[in-house]
Amino acid sequence: MTLNDYLNKALKEGWAVAHFNISDAVTLAGICEAAKELGAPLMIGTSEGERKFIGSAQARVMINAYRDEYKLPIFLNADHHKSVSKAQEAVDADYDSIHIDLSVAKLEENIKGTKEVVAYVKSKNKDISVEGEVGYLVTESSKIYKEIIEIPPESLTKPEEAARFVQETGVDRFAPAVGNLHGIAANVKKLDIARIEAIRSLIGDTTMVLHGGSGTPDEQIKNAIEAGINNIHINTELRVAYADALRKFLNENPEETTPYKMFAPVIEAIKQKTAEKLKLFGSVNRI
Ligand SMILES: [Zn+2]
Repeated sequence: MTLNDYLNKALKEGWAVAHFNISDAVTLAGICEAAKELGAPLMIGTSEGERKFIGSAQARVMINAYRDEYKLPIFLNADHHKSVSKAQEAVDADYDSIHIDLSVAKLEENIKGTKEVVAYVKSKNKDISVEGEVGYLVTESSKIYKEIIEIPPESLTKPEEAARFVQETGVDRFAPAVGNLHGIAANVKKLDIARIEAIRSLIGDTTMVLHGGSGTPDEQIKNAIEAGINNIHINTELRVAYADALRKFLNENPEETTPYKMFAPVIEAIKQKTAEKLKLFGSVNRI
């Protein structure tokens, strides 16, 4: 089954494929262990920065190794690639999925660039899944904000623009701005469920992605899936679990220098957080 097959299955059955970001082998190990135990398909994402750090070829080889050893459908996504050329670079590096994010541009420009990426991808391999985005998230990825974040109404996705974008670009996945935020803010996140429903009713069988899932109350995640979200991104919560576990270990064991000892509790923390999300998204035993 291809990634689009899994996304379509999630759409039909009312659950969400989980997407987690990585920039190292430690995070990937924890995520894959949880998915193996729970029988969940996975999307692993690297943003432009994460991809540069870990290396495209290195990420590809590690994902392939887990696919083979754990018999898991794991798909590698170029997350938030912000130019046509960067997106093409990831296609050429054998990514399974491309998220072209031109959401800061005007709608016309966004449609034009996204179409170009769709054409490039489909000319190479029609099984590669492409995601586009309209509306913008006001916070930066993976920061912890101490202040209350106000979401300006003009940043939210207009359902009719979503419909036009999906129709004209032919993307496989659509990412809206519906009250979601990257990172974790001081205020509790509040998703605009009615807007998700309105967009869902206008985009046919296109799957819909929720970015910035970290820190969203479980009940809202469930409502969002019911309203038509089929793919959910978590990054910050894993990063926090990682940093907390490592800090705690090093505070308690200041003399330790063996990486596999230092990172064992980190892998365990990532595994637990991942398992929690896979259960919440309904993606257990969906392989
Ligand atoms: Zn995102």
